[in-house]
Amino acid sequence: MINIKENEELSVLNHSGAHLLAQAVKHLYPKALFWVGPVINEGFYYDIDLGDTKISEEDLASIEHEMKKIAKDGKRIVRRELTREEALDLFKDNPYKVDLINEMPEDTVISCYTQGDFTDLCRGPHVESVKELKYFKLLKVSGAYYKGDSKNKMLQRIYGVAFKNEEDLKNYLQELEEAKERDHRKIGAALDIFMSHDLVGKGMPLWLPNGAIIRKQLENYIYEKEQKLGYFHVYTPCVGTVDLYKTSGHWDHYKENMFPSMKVDEEEFVLRPMNCPHHMLIYKNSLHSYRDLPIRIGEFATDFRYEASGAVKGLERVRCMCQNDAHLFVRPDQIGEEFQKVVSLILDVYKDFGIKNYKFRLSLRDPKDKEKYFDDDLMWNMAEDKLREVLNDFGCEYEEAIGEAAFYGPKLDVEVKPAVGPEVTLSTCQLDFLLPRRFELSYIDNEGNKQIPVVLHRAIFGTFDRFTAFLIEETKGAFPFWLAPTQINIIPVNGECHLEYGTKVKDLLQEKNIRVNIDNRNEKLGYKMRESQTKKIPMTLILGDKEKESEEISYRLYGEKETTTLPLKDFINMVDLKSKNRE
Ligand SMILES: [Zn+2]
Ligand SMILES: [Zn+2]
Repeated sequence: MINIKENEELSVLNHSGAHLLAQAVKHLYPKALFWVGPVINEGFYYDIDLGDTKISEEDLASIEHEMKKIAKDGKRIVRRELTREEALDLFKDNPYKVDLINEMPEDTVISCYTQGDFTDLCRGPHVESVKELKYFKLLKVSGAYYKGDSKNKMLQRIYGVAFKNEEDLKNYLQELEEAKERDHRKIGAALDIFMSHDLVGKGMPLWLPNGAIIRKQLENYIYEKEQKLGYFHVYTPCVGTVDLYKTSGHWDHYKENMFPSMKVDEEEFVLRPMNCPHHMLIYKNSLHSYRDLPIRIGEFATDFRYEASGAVKGLERVRCMCQNDAHLFVRPDQIGEEFQKVVSLILDVYKDFGIKNYKFRLSLRDPKDKEKYFDDDLMWNMAEDKLREVLNDFGCEYEEAIGEAAFYGPKLDVEVKPAVGPEVTLSTCQLDFLLPRRFELSYIDNEGNKQIPVVLHRAIFGTFDRFTAFLIEETKGAFPFWLAPTQINIIPVNGECHLEYGTKVKDLLQEKNIRVNIDNRNEKLGYKMRESQTKKIPMTLILGDKEKESEEISYRLYGEKETTTLPLKDFINMVDLKSKNRE
Protein backbone atom coordinates (compact mmCIF):
# COMPACT_ATOMS: atom_id res chain seq x y z
CA MET A 1 0.00 0.00 0.00
CA ILE A 2 1.42 3.35 -1.00
CA ASN A 3 2.50 5.73 1.75
CA ILE A 4 1.18 9.15 0.75
CA LYS A 5 3.33 11.05 3.19
CA GLU A 6 6.52 9.57 1.79
CA ASN A 7 5.63 10.62 -1.76
CA GLU A 8 6.37 14.29 -2.27
CA GLU A 9 4.01 14.90 -5.16
CA LEU A 10 1.12 13.10 -3.50
CA SER A 11 1.80 14.90 -0.24
CA VAL A 12 1.34 18.29 -1.90
CA LEU A 13 -1.77 17.07 -3.69
CA ASN A 14 -3.26 15.60 -0.52
CA HIS A 15 -2.52 18.64 1.54
CA SER A 16 -4.28 20.72 -1.10
CA GLY A 17 -7.12 18.23 -0.73
CA ALA A 18 -7.37 19.19 2.93
CA HIS A 19 -7.82 22.86 1.97
CA LEU A 20 -10.44 21.95 -0.58
CA LEU A 21 -12.25 19.94 2.07
CA ALA A 22 -12.16 22.89 4.46
CA GLN A 23 -13.49 25.24 1.80
CA ALA A 24 -16.38 22.89 1.01
CA VAL A 25 -17.19 22.47 4.70
CA LYS A 26 -17.15 26.25 5.09
CA HIS A 27 -19.67 26.58 2.23
CA LEU A 28 -22.00 24.01 3.76
CA TYR A 29 -21.45 24.85 7.41
CA PRO A 30 -20.58 28.57 7.56
CA LYS A 31 -19.95 28.46 11.31
CA ALA A 32 -17.19 25.85 10.97
CA LEU A 33 -13.87 26.67 12.63
CA PHE A 34 -10.74 24.92 11.43
CA TRP A 35 -7.71 23.78 13.38
CA VAL A 36 -5.14 21.79 11.33
CA GLY A 37 -5.26 19.72 8.14
CA PRO A 38 -2.08 17.67 7.73
CA VAL A 39 -1.03 14.91 5.36
CA ILE A 40 -0.78 11.45 6.89
CA ASN A 41 0.44 8.08 5.56
CA GLU A 42 -3.11 7.29 4.37
CA GLY A 43 -3.96 10.67 2.83
CA PHE A 44 -5.16 13.81 4.60
CA TYR A 45 -7.55 14.98 7.26
CA TYR A 46 -8.86 18.20 8.70
CA ASP A 47 -9.86 18.82 12.33
CA ILE A 48 -12.96 20.97 12.45
CA ASP A 49 -15.08 22.55 15.19
CA LEU A 50 -18.68 22.49 14.02
CA GLY A 51 -20.28 23.49 17.30
CA ASP A 52 -23.30 21.29 17.94
CA THR A 53 -23.57 20.05 14.36
CA LYS A 54 -22.40 16.46 14.02
CA ILE A 55 -21.17 15.20 10.68
CA SER A 56 -22.01 11.60 9.85
CA GLU A 57 -20.63 9.29 7.16
CA GLU A 58 -23.75 10.12 5.10
CA ASP A 59 -22.83 13.81 5.04
CA LEU A 60 -19.49 13.04 3.42
CA ALA A 61 -21.12 12.60 0.01
CA SER A 62 -22.53 16.13 -0.02
CA ILE A 63 -19.20 17.57 1.18
CA GLU A 64 -17.47 15.63 -1.57
CA HIS A 65 -19.98 16.95 -4.07
CA GLU A 66 -19.24 20.51 -2.98
CA MET A 67 -15.49 19.84 -3.25
CA LYS A 68 -15.97 18.65 -6.85
CA LYS A 69 -17.92 21.81 -7.65
CA ILE A 70 -15.19 24.08 -6.25
CA ALA A 71 -12.47 22.08 -8.03
CA LYS A 72 -14.30 22.38 -11.34
CA ASP A 73 -14.50 26.12 -10.87
CA GLY A 74 -10.72 25.98 -11.08
CA LYS A 75 -9.59 28.86 -8.91
CA ARG A 76 -5.86 29.42 -8.59
CA ILE A 77 -4.25 28.87 -5.18
CA VAL A 78 -2.39 32.01 -4.20
CA ARG A 79 0.23 32.37 -1.50
CA ARG A 80 0.63 35.51 0.54
CA GLU A 81 3.04 36.34 3.34
CA LEU A 82 1.74 38.13 6.39
CA THR A 83 3.12 39.97 9.38
CA ARG A 84 2.10 38.55 12.72
CA GLU A 85 -0.34 41.43 13.23
CA GLU A 86 -1.92 40.94 9.82
CA ALA A 87 -2.27 37.21 10.46
CA LEU A 88 -3.84 37.71 13.88
CA ASP A 89 -6.27 40.18 12.37
CA LEU A 90 -7.14 37.97 9.40
CA PHE A 91 -7.92 34.96 11.59
CA LYS A 92 -9.31 36.85 14.58
CA ASP A 93 -12.62 34.99 14.40
CA ASN A 94 -10.95 31.60 14.71
CA PRO A 95 -9.41 30.93 18.15
CA TYR A 96 -7.69 27.77 16.86
CA LYS A 97 -5.73 29.66 14.20
CA VAL A 98 -4.98 32.48 16.62
CA ASP A 99 -3.50 29.91 18.98
CA LEU A 100 -1.42 28.44 16.13
CA ILE A 101 -0.10 31.90 15.22
CA ASN A 102 0.73 32.70 18.83
CA GLU A 103 2.63 29.44 19.15
CA MET A 104 4.82 30.15 16.11
CA PRO A 105 8.40 31.09 17.00
CA GLU A 106 9.36 34.78 16.59
CA ASP A 107 11.21 34.32 13.27
CA THR A 108 8.53 32.25 11.46
CA VAL A 109 7.51 33.46 8.02
CA ILE A 110 3.72 33.42 8.32
CA SER A 111 1.84 32.72 5.14
CA CYS A 112 -1.68 32.06 4.00
CA TYR A 113 -3.17 30.50 0.89
CA THR A 114 -6.28 31.74 -0.85
CA GLN A 115 -8.44 29.84 -3.33
CA GLY A 116 -11.54 31.72 -4.39
CA ASP A 117 -13.55 32.70 -1.32
CA PHE A 118 -11.44 30.68 1.11
CA THR A 119 -8.20 31.62 2.86
CA ASP A 120 -6.29 29.34 5.19
CA LEU A 121 -3.25 29.83 7.37
CA CYS A 122 -0.59 27.54 5.94
CA ARG A 123 3.09 26.95 5.32
CA GLY A 124 2.42 25.24 1.96
CA PRO A 125 3.34 24.05 -0.55
CA HIS A 126 0.22 23.52 -2.62
CA VAL A 127 -0.73 22.64 -6.15
CA GLU A 128 -1.16 25.62 -8.52
CA SER A 129 -4.91 25.43 -8.83
CA VAL A 130 -7.83 23.54 -7.30
CA LYS A 131 -8.39 22.23 -10.83
CA GLU A 132 -5.66 19.68 -10.19
CA LEU A 133 -7.84 18.01 -7.57
CA LYS A 134 -9.90 15.64 -9.65
CA TYR A 135 -9.48 12.20 -8.12
CA PHE A 136 -10.21 12.20 -4.42
CA LYS A 137 -12.45 10.52 -1.91
CA LEU A 138 -13.56 11.30 1.63
CA LEU A 139 -13.06 8.19 3.70
CA LYS A 140 -14.46 8.61 7.18
CA VAL A 141 -15.21 10.98 10.02
CA SER A 142 -14.26 10.56 13.65
CA GLY A 143 -13.85 12.56 16.83
CA ALA A 144 -10.45 13.98 17.75
CA TYR A 145 -9.59 16.01 20.81
CA TYR A 146 -8.13 19.45 20.22
CA LYS A 147 -4.36 19.09 20.65
CA GLY A 148 -4.91 15.38 21.30
CA ASP A 149 -5.82 16.11 24.91
CA SER A 150 -8.97 14.50 26.29
CA LYS A 151 -9.47 17.49 28.59
CA ASN A 152 -10.00 19.66 25.52
CA LYS A 153 -12.95 20.00 23.23
CA MET A 154 -13.72 17.15 20.85
CA LEU A 155 -13.36 18.27 17.23
CA GLN A 156 -14.51 16.35 14.15
CA ARG A 157 -11.86 14.87 11.93
CA ILE A 158 -12.72 14.19 8.31
CA TYR A 159 -10.35 11.91 6.43
CA GLY A 160 -9.76 11.79 2.70
CA VAL A 161 -7.26 10.84 0.05
CA ALA A 162 -6.32 12.27 -3.35
CA PHE A 163 -4.51 10.83 -6.38
CA LYS A 164 -3.20 12.00 -9.74
CA ASN A 165 -5.47 9.71 -11.73
CA GLU A 166 -8.58 7.62 -11.47
CA GLU A 167 -6.85 4.27 -11.62
CA ASP A 168 -4.55 4.98 -8.68
CA LEU A 169 -7.51 6.11 -6.63
CA LYS A 170 -9.52 3.05 -7.57
CA ASN A 171 -6.68 0.67 -6.70
CA TYR A 172 -6.09 2.42 -3.43
CA LEU A 173 -9.72 2.23 -2.37
CA GLN A 174 -9.77 -1.43 -3.30
CA GLU A 175 -6.69 -2.10 -1.20
CA LEU A 176 -8.27 -0.20 1.66
CA GLU A 177 -11.34 -2.45 1.48
CA GLU A 178 -9.13 -5.52 1.43
CA ALA A 179 -7.15 -4.25 4.42
CA LYS A 180 -10.35 -3.62 6.35
CA GLU A 181 -11.55 -7.10 5.61
CA ARG A 182 -8.26 -8.64 6.71
CA ASP A 183 -7.70 -6.41 9.72
CA HIS A 184 -6.64 -8.80 12.49
CA ARG A 185 -8.43 -6.68 15.09
CA LYS A 186 -11.74 -7.20 13.32
CA ILE A 187 -11.19 -10.91 12.69
CA GLY A 188 -9.64 -11.34 16.13
CA ALA A 189 -12.84 -10.05 17.73
CA ALA A 190 -15.19 -11.97 15.41
CA LEU A 191 -13.41 -15.28 16.03
CA ASP A 192 -12.81 -14.67 19.75
CA ILE A 193 -9.03 -14.76 19.41
CA PHE A 194 -8.14 -11.84 21.66
CA MET A 195 -9.66 -8.90 23.49
CA SER A 196 -8.46 -5.87 25.35
CA HIS A 197 -9.84 -3.96 28.27
CA ASP A 198 -9.19 -0.47 29.60
CA LEU A 199 -8.76 -1.88 33.09
CA VAL A 200 -5.83 -3.98 31.89
CA GLY A 201 -4.41 -1.15 29.84
CA LYS A 202 -3.44 0.01 26.39
CA GLY A 203 -1.36 -2.35 24.29
CA MET A 204 -1.99 -5.25 26.68
CA PRO A 205 -4.17 -7.74 24.78
CA LEU A 206 -5.78 -10.71 26.51
CA TRP A 207 -5.59 -13.98 24.59
CA LEU A 208 -8.97 -15.72 24.64
CA PRO A 209 -9.22 -19.54 24.58
CA ASN A 210 -9.21 -19.62 20.76
CA GLY A 211 -6.14 -17.40 20.59
CA ALA A 212 -4.44 -19.38 23.32
CA ILE A 213 -4.88 -22.57 21.27
CA ILE A 214 -3.26 -20.96 18.23
CA ARG A 215 -0.40 -19.62 20.33
CA LYS A 216 0.16 -22.95 22.06
CA GLN A 217 0.31 -24.70 18.68
CA LEU A 218 2.88 -22.19 17.47
CA GLU A 219 4.89 -22.66 20.66
CA ASN A 220 4.85 -26.44 20.34
CA TYR A 221 5.82 -26.22 16.70
CA ILE A 222 8.86 -24.01 17.19
CA TYR A 223 9.82 -25.73 20.44
CA GLU A 224 10.13 -29.04 18.62
CA LYS A 225 12.21 -27.46 15.86
CA GLU A 226 14.53 -25.82 18.35
CA GLN A 227 14.87 -28.94 20.44
CA LYS A 228 15.98 -30.89 17.40
CA LEU A 229 18.64 -28.25 16.86
CA GLY A 230 20.00 -28.71 20.38
CA TYR A 231 18.40 -25.72 22.12
CA PHE A 232 17.77 -25.79 25.89
CA HIS A 233 14.63 -23.95 26.94
CA VAL A 234 14.41 -22.00 30.16
CA TYR A 235 11.92 -19.93 32.15
CA THR A 236 13.04 -16.64 33.65
CA PRO A 237 11.19 -13.82 35.43
CA CYS A 238 9.89 -10.92 33.41
CA VAL A 239 11.48 -8.43 35.77
CA GLY A 240 15.10 -7.73 36.59
CA THR A 241 16.84 -5.17 38.74
CA VAL A 242 17.94 -1.87 37.30
CA ASP A 243 21.52 -3.01 37.95
CA LEU A 244 21.03 -5.95 35.62
CA TYR A 245 20.10 -3.55 32.84
CA LYS A 246 22.94 -1.23 33.77
CA THR A 247 25.31 -4.18 33.34
CA SER A 248 23.80 -5.02 29.95
CA GLY A 249 23.84 -1.39 28.84
CA HIS A 250 20.08 -1.26 28.18
CA TRP A 251 19.56 1.21 31.02
CA ASP A 252 21.81 3.72 29.27
CA HIS A 253 20.83 3.06 25.66
CA TYR A 254 17.30 1.68 25.69
CA LYS A 255 15.69 3.38 28.67
CA GLU A 256 13.13 5.37 26.66
CA ASN A 257 11.63 2.07 25.45
CA MET A 258 11.32 0.65 28.95
CA PHE A 259 8.64 0.97 31.63
CA PRO A 260 9.75 3.06 34.60
CA SER A 261 11.37 1.27 37.53
CA MET A 262 9.66 0.32 40.77
CA LYS A 263 11.12 -0.02 44.22
CA VAL A 264 10.47 -3.13 46.27
CA ASP A 265 12.20 -3.18 49.66
CA GLU A 266 15.80 -2.36 48.87
CA GLU A 267 15.70 -3.46 45.25
CA GLU A 268 14.78 -1.42 42.20
CA PHE A 269 13.08 -3.47 39.50
CA VAL A 270 12.13 -2.90 35.89
CA LEU A 271 9.83 -4.87 33.63
CA ARG A 272 12.24 -6.37 31.17
CA PRO A 273 12.32 -5.15 27.58
CA MET A 274 14.61 -8.05 26.49
CA ASN A 275 15.74 -11.37 27.82
CA CYS A 276 19.43 -11.30 26.93
CA PRO A 277 20.68 -10.34 30.43
CA HIS A 278 18.82 -13.23 32.08
CA HIS A 279 20.23 -15.67 29.54
CA MET A 280 23.77 -14.29 29.99
CA LEU A 281 23.50 -15.12 33.69
CA ILE A 282 22.28 -18.62 32.93
CA TYR A 283 25.31 -19.18 30.71
CA LYS A 284 27.53 -17.83 33.46
CA ASN A 285 26.02 -20.16 36.02
CA SER A 286 28.34 -22.98 34.95
CA LEU A 287 31.82 -23.44 33.53
CA HIS A 288 32.12 -24.12 29.83
CA SER A 289 34.77 -25.83 27.77
CA TYR A 290 35.32 -25.04 24.09
CA ARG A 291 33.87 -28.51 23.41
CA ASP A 292 30.49 -27.53 24.97
CA LEU A 293 29.88 -24.71 22.55
CA PRO A 294 27.57 -23.75 20.89
CA ILE A 295 25.22 -23.48 23.84
CA ARG A 296 21.72 -22.50 22.79
CA ILE A 297 19.32 -21.06 25.34
CA GLY A 298 15.75 -20.53 24.20
CA GLU A 299 12.72 -19.06 25.91
CA PHE A 300 9.19 -17.99 25.08
CA ALA A 301 9.70 -14.85 27.07
CA THR A 302 7.32 -12.07 27.98
CA ASP A 303 8.76 -8.59 27.58
CA PHE A 304 7.40 -5.12 28.17
CA ARG A 305 8.21 -2.14 26.03
CA TYR A 306 6.95 1.37 25.98
CA GLU A 307 4.97 2.18 22.83
CA ALA A 308 3.17 5.49 22.40
CA SER A 309 -0.50 4.96 23.24
CA GLY A 310 -1.43 6.13 19.73
CA ALA A 311 0.86 3.51 18.15
CA VAL A 312 -0.49 0.38 19.82
CA LYS A 313 -2.53 -1.80 17.50
CA GLY A 314 -4.24 -5.11 18.29
CA LEU A 315 -1.67 -7.87 18.57
CA GLU A 316 0.64 -6.18 16.08
CA ARG A 317 2.02 -3.35 18.21
CA VAL A 318 1.76 -4.03 21.89
CA ARG A 319 3.34 -3.06 25.17
CA CYS A 320 3.48 -6.63 26.43
CA MET A 321 4.75 -9.27 24.03
CA CYS A 322 6.10 -12.79 24.01
CA GLN A 323 9.27 -13.35 22.06
CA ASN A 324 10.33 -16.55 20.41
CA ASP A 325 13.76 -15.73 21.73
CA ALA A 326 17.08 -17.56 21.90
CA HIS A 327 20.68 -16.74 22.61
CA LEU A 328 23.36 -18.84 21.00
CA PHE A 329 26.78 -18.78 22.63
CA VAL A 330 29.48 -19.71 20.12
CA ARG A 331 33.25 -19.65 19.63
CA PRO A 332 34.29 -17.10 17.00
CA ASP A 333 35.17 -19.95 14.62
CA GLN A 334 31.58 -21.26 14.93
CA ILE A 335 29.84 -18.06 13.82
CA GLY A 336 29.38 -19.18 10.22
CA GLU A 337 28.11 -22.64 11.02
CA GLU A 338 25.68 -21.42 13.67
CA PHE A 339 24.41 -18.60 11.49
CA GLN A 340 23.86 -21.18 8.76
CA LYS A 341 21.63 -23.17 11.14
CA VAL A 342 19.60 -20.07 11.99
CA VAL A 343 19.02 -19.16 8.34
CA SER A 344 18.15 -22.76 7.57
CA LEU A 345 15.58 -22.74 10.39
CA ILE A 346 14.06 -19.50 9.09
CA LEU A 347 13.73 -20.94 5.58
CA ASP A 348 12.26 -24.15 6.97
CA VAL A 349 9.63 -22.31 9.03
CA TYR A 350 8.69 -19.99 6.15
CA LYS A 351 8.22 -23.01 3.92
CA ASP A 352 5.93 -24.65 6.49
CA PHE A 353 3.81 -21.50 6.73
CA GLY A 354 3.80 -20.87 3.01
CA ILE A 355 5.55 -17.51 3.42
CA LYS A 356 7.05 -16.73 0.02
CA ASN A 357 7.22 -12.98 -0.25
CA TYR A 358 10.19 -11.89 1.84
CA LYS A 359 13.65 -10.42 1.60
CA PHE A 360 16.81 -10.59 3.66
CA ARG A 361 18.52 -7.49 4.87
CA LEU A 362 22.05 -7.63 6.18
CA SER A 363 23.06 -4.68 8.36
CA LEU A 364 26.82 -4.23 8.23
CA ARG A 365 29.27 -1.77 9.67
CA ASP A 366 30.54 1.18 7.69
CA PRO A 367 34.24 0.34 7.23
CA LYS A 368 35.00 4.04 6.69
CA ASP A 369 33.63 4.88 10.11
CA LYS A 370 35.20 2.23 12.32
CA GLU A 371 35.21 4.31 15.53
CA LYS A 372 31.43 4.01 15.58
CA TYR A 373 31.64 0.27 16.17
CA PHE A 374 32.95 -2.22 18.67
CA ASP A 375 36.71 -2.24 18.20
CA ASP A 376 37.76 -5.60 16.77
CA ASP A 377 38.55 -5.30 13.11
CA LEU A 378 39.39 -8.95 12.55
CA MET A 379 36.20 -10.14 14.22
CA TRP A 380 34.01 -7.78 12.18
CA ASN A 381 35.59 -8.76 8.88
CA MET A 382 35.46 -12.45 9.62
CA ALA A 383 31.86 -12.34 10.87
CA GLU A 384 30.56 -10.23 7.99
CA ASP A 385 32.27 -12.48 5.44
CA LYS A 386 30.71 -15.53 7.07
CA LEU A 387 27.22 -14.02 7.01
CA ARG A 388 27.49 -13.17 3.33
CA GLU A 389 28.89 -16.59 2.56
CA VAL A 390 25.99 -18.37 4.27
CA LEU A 391 23.36 -16.27 2.48
CA ASN A 392 25.13 -16.85 -0.83
CA ASP A 393 25.32 -20.60 -0.20
CA PHE A 394 21.57 -20.71 0.38
CA GLY A 395 21.06 -18.67 -2.76
CA CYS A 396 19.18 -16.07 -0.72
CA GLU A 397 18.82 -12.69 -2.29
CA TYR A 398 19.73 -10.04 0.20
CA GLU A 399 20.30 -6.35 0.52
CA GLU A 400 23.37 -5.01 2.28
CA ALA A 401 22.72 -2.06 4.54
CA ILE A 402 26.17 -0.57 5.03
CA GLY A 403 26.49 1.46 8.20
CA GLU A 404 23.28 0.08 9.71
CA ALA A 405 24.86 -2.50 11.99
CA ALA A 406 24.50 -1.98 15.73
CA PHE A 407 27.57 -0.85 17.67
CA TYR A 408 28.09 -4.41 18.89
CA GLY A 409 27.70 -6.50 15.72
CA PRO A 410 26.13 -7.14 12.30
CA LYS A 411 22.52 -8.24 11.94
CA LEU A 412 20.16 -10.11 9.66
CA ASP A 413 16.50 -9.09 9.34
CA VAL A 414 13.85 -10.83 7.31
CA GLU A 415 11.20 -8.49 6.00
CA VAL A 416 8.00 -10.17 4.97
CA LYS A 417 5.48 -8.63 2.60
CA PRO A 418 2.00 -9.35 3.93
CA ALA A 419 -1.21 -9.67 1.91
CA VAL A 420 -1.96 -6.02 2.73
CA GLY A 421 -0.07 -3.18 4.33
CA PRO A 422 3.62 -2.43 4.68
CA GLU A 423 6.40 -4.98 5.18
CA VAL A 424 6.85 -6.51 8.61
CA THR A 425 10.09 -7.75 10.12
CA LEU A 426 9.43 -11.21 11.48
CA SER A 427 12.77 -12.97 11.97
CA THR A 428 16.01 -11.44 13.17
CA CYS A 429 19.50 -12.68 13.98
CA GLN A 430 21.86 -10.24 15.67
CA LEU A 431 25.53 -10.93 16.35
CA ASP A 432 26.90 -9.50 19.56
CA PHE A 433 30.59 -9.15 20.40
CA LEU A 434 30.01 -6.87 23.38
CA LEU A 435 27.38 -8.33 25.70
CA PRO A 436 29.48 -11.39 26.65
CA ARG A 437 32.21 -8.96 27.73
CA ARG A 438 29.83 -6.85 29.78
CA PHE A 439 28.78 -9.97 31.66
CA GLU A 440 32.37 -11.37 31.74
CA LEU A 441 31.36 -14.62 30.07
CA SER A 442 34.01 -17.13 29.14
CA TYR A 443 34.87 -20.63 28.04
CA ILE A 444 38.12 -22.55 28.39
CA ASP A 445 39.92 -23.15 25.10
CA ASN A 446 41.94 -26.24 24.18
CA GLU A 447 45.04 -24.81 25.81
CA GLY A 448 43.32 -24.11 29.09
CA ASN A 449 42.98 -20.37 28.52
CA LYS A 450 39.88 -18.27 29.12
CA GLN A 451 38.21 -17.02 25.94
CA ILE A 452 35.16 -14.85 25.35
CA PRO A 453 32.24 -16.32 23.40
CA VAL A 454 30.21 -14.47 20.76
CA VAL A 455 26.42 -14.29 21.20
CA LEU A 456 23.77 -14.58 18.49
CA HIS A 457 20.41 -13.15 19.53
CA ARG A 458 17.77 -14.65 17.31
CA ALA A 459 13.98 -14.78 17.00
CA ILE A 460 12.29 -16.79 14.26
CA PHE A 461 8.62 -15.88 14.70
CA GLY A 462 9.71 -12.57 16.17
CA THR A 463 6.99 -12.27 18.77
CA PHE A 464 4.07 -14.68 19.00
CA ASP A 465 1.81 -11.65 19.12
CA ARG A 466 2.94 -10.09 15.87
CA PHE A 467 3.23 -13.45 14.13
CA THR A 468 -0.36 -14.31 15.09
CA ALA A 469 -1.57 -10.92 13.83
CA PHE A 470 0.29 -11.65 10.59
CA LEU A 471 -1.25 -15.14 10.29
CA ILE A 472 -4.76 -13.83 10.92
CA GLU A 473 -4.39 -11.27 8.13
CA GLU A 474 -2.80 -13.77 5.73
CA THR A 475 -5.47 -16.43 6.27
CA LYS A 476 -8.39 -14.05 6.96
CA GLY A 477 -8.94 -16.23 10.02
CA ALA A 478 -9.29 -19.47 8.04
CA PHE A 479 -6.38 -21.20 9.73
CA PRO A 480 -4.88 -24.44 8.47
CA PHE A 481 -6.25 -27.59 10.10
CA TRP A 482 -3.46 -27.99 12.66
CA LEU A 483 -3.75 -24.40 13.93
CA ALA A 484 -7.51 -23.90 13.93
CA PRO A 485 -9.00 -23.42 17.42
CA THR A 486 -11.87 -25.77 16.55
CA GLN A 487 -10.73 -28.23 13.90
CA ILE A 488 -13.92 -30.18 13.35
CA ASN A 489 -17.57 -29.26 13.83
CA ILE A 490 -19.98 -32.18 14.05
CA ILE A 491 -23.58 -31.54 13.06
CA PRO A 492 -26.02 -34.38 13.78
CA VAL A 493 -28.81 -33.97 11.22
CA ASN A 494 -31.43 -34.90 13.79
CA GLY A 495 -30.49 -34.38 17.41
CA GLU A 496 -32.41 -37.31 18.78
CA CYS A 497 -31.53 -39.94 16.19
CA HIS A 498 -27.97 -38.96 15.43
CA LEU A 499 -26.54 -37.50 18.61
CA GLU A 500 -25.32 -40.85 19.87
CA TYR A 501 -23.32 -41.55 16.71
CA GLY A 502 -22.07 -37.95 16.71
CA THR A 503 -20.87 -38.31 20.28
CA LYS A 504 -19.09 -41.54 19.42
CA VAL A 505 -17.27 -39.82 16.55
CA LYS A 506 -16.41 -36.89 18.82
CA ASP A 507 -14.90 -39.20 21.45
CA LEU A 508 -12.80 -41.02 18.85
CA LEU A 509 -11.49 -37.71 17.51
CA GLN A 510 -10.74 -36.37 20.96
CA GLU A 511 -8.70 -39.48 21.67
CA LYS A 512 -6.49 -38.34 18.79
CA ASN A 513 -6.20 -34.87 20.35
CA ILE A 514 -8.38 -33.32 17.67
CA ARG A 515 -10.24 -30.21 18.83
CA VAL A 516 -13.85 -30.94 18.04
CA ASN A 517 -17.23 -29.37 18.68
CA ILE A 518 -20.60 -31.06 18.44
CA ASP A 519 -23.46 -28.77 17.54
CA ASN A 520 -26.62 -30.34 18.96
CA ARG A 521 -28.55 -27.12 19.34
CA ASN A 522 -32.13 -27.12 18.24
CA GLU A 523 -31.45 -25.15 15.05
CA LYS A 524 -31.93 -25.80 11.33
CA LEU A 525 -29.19 -27.74 9.54
CA GLY A 526 -28.59 -24.87 7.09
CA TYR A 527 -28.17 -22.40 9.93
CA LYS A 528 -25.60 -24.61 11.63
CA MET A 529 -23.74 -25.14 8.37
CA ARG A 530 -23.52 -21.40 7.78
CA GLU A 531 -22.25 -20.80 11.29
CA SER A 532 -19.56 -23.41 10.77
CA GLN A 533 -18.43 -21.31 7.80
CA THR A 534 -18.62 -18.00 9.66
CA LYS A 535 -16.43 -19.46 12.38
CA LYS A 536 -14.08 -20.70 9.65
CA ILE A 537 -13.90 -24.21 11.06
CA PRO A 538 -11.76 -26.28 8.65
CA MET A 539 -14.02 -29.36 8.62
CA THR A 540 -17.75 -29.85 9.15
CA LEU A 541 -19.24 -33.31 9.55
CA ILE A 542 -22.87 -33.89 8.66
CA LEU A 543 -24.08 -37.09 10.29
CA GLY A 544 -27.50 -38.49 9.37
CA ASP A 545 -29.17 -41.88 8.93
CA LYS A 546 -26.91 -43.01 6.12
CA GLU A 547 -23.72 -42.22 8.02
CA LYS A 548 -25.00 -43.78 11.22
CA GLU A 549 -26.09 -47.03 9.60
CA SER A 550 -22.94 -47.60 7.55
CA GLU A 551 -20.50 -46.12 10.11
CA GLU A 552 -19.40 -43.47 7.69
CA ILE A 553 -18.44 -39.84 7.81
CA SER A 554 -19.61 -37.15 5.40
CA TYR A 555 -17.53 -34.02 5.65
CA ARG A 556 -17.18 -30.66 4.00
CA LEU A 557 -14.04 -28.53 3.98
CA TYR A 558 -14.20 -24.84 4.81
CA GLY A 559 -15.17 -22.74 1.80
CA GLU A 560 -16.07 -25.75 -0.33
CA LYS A 561 -19.46 -26.94 -1.52
CA GLU A 562 -19.00 -30.65 -2.12
CA THR A 563 -19.26 -33.33 0.53
CA THR A 564 -16.87 -36.29 0.80
CA THR A 565 -17.83 -39.58 2.40
CA LEU A 566 -15.37 -41.97 4.05
CA PRO A 567 -15.60 -45.01 6.36
CA LEU A 568 -15.27 -43.79 9.96
CA LYS A 569 -11.96 -45.56 10.55
CA ASP A 570 -10.33 -44.12 7.43
CA PHE A 571 -11.57 -40.67 8.33
CA ILE A 572 -10.10 -40.82 11.83
CA ASN A 573 -6.75 -41.97 10.42
CA MET A 574 -6.82 -39.25 7.79
CA VAL A 575 -7.38 -36.37 10.23
CA ASP A 576 -4.97 -37.86 12.75
CA LEU A 577 -2.25 -37.81 10.13
CA LYS A 578 -3.21 -34.33 8.98
CA SER A 579 -2.95 -33.02 12.50
CA LYS A 580 0.36 -34.77 13.22
CA ASN A 581 1.87 -33.52 9.97
CA ARG A 582 0.70 -30.01 10.80
CA GLU A 583 -1.21 -29.62 7.57
ZN1 LIG B 1 -1.96 24.22 3.39
ZN1 LIG C 1 18.91 -10.87 23.05
